[in-house]
Amino acid sequence: MRFSKLRLTGFKSFVDPTDLIIADGLTGVVGPNGCGKSNLLEALRWVMGENRPTAMRGGGMEDVIFAGAATRPARNFAEVALQIDNGERLAPAGFNDDDNLEITRRITRDVGSAYKVNTKDVRARDVQMLFADASTGAHSPALVRQGQIAELINSKPKARRRILEEAAGISGLYQRRHEAELKLKNAEANLTRVDDVIEQLA
Ligand code: ATP
Repeated sequence: MRFSKLRLTGFKSFVDPTDLIIADGLTGVVGPNGCGKSNLLEALRWVMGENRPTAMRGGGMEDVIFAGAATRPARNFAEVALQIDNGERLAPAGFNDDDNLEITRRITRDVGSAYKVNTKDVRARDVQMLFADASTGAHSPALVRQGQIAELINSKPKARRRILEEAAGISGLYQRRHEAELKLKNAEANLTRVDDVIEQLA
């Protein structure tokens, strides 16, 4: 799976549709302070399912929507689309039928986020799992934000272990285990209820 293009519309400072072409090799983004370099990295995290507003440097998730400027009114929605070249069929099972994948996330004021893979509506969880299984994602150590190296050096062993697990591609398994445990708990509660009913009938 290779990221090939990021398209931002109404996302933070990128009010007009803007394409970032991600070519083979290393892509550098240079520009003066405040031109939106970090916003690009945040867009990448966001489309992969980031749901902590603080990771987007905001108080609420709607803060990613273009908030207006002296000459431009605020927007009602923000959208980020990530194109992935899947020619080598390296996408996780369930997403591996196409040469190209396009993951889209759109947030609309007072409505919230909606996700698509190509033209199909999917849940946030599906997108998060897609990237977790591909050893990348909103929390991927491959996305390094300002100040993160210092944080890493000063981090506790548990936090470092999470980073290694993410890189090893097993963080998706933790999520699945958590969901399986919740289902198991529900099933156990149902069984107890059935036992109670049988006892009353006996
Ligand atoms: P630096 O080099 O200083 O880190 P940068 O190039 O990384 O800067 P960013 O932090 O990505 O720049 O962009 C900051 C700009 O984005 C600011 O001008 C800020 O006003 C603008 N911005 C952030 N959120 C929004 C929003 N919701 N609507 C409009 N503009 C926004």
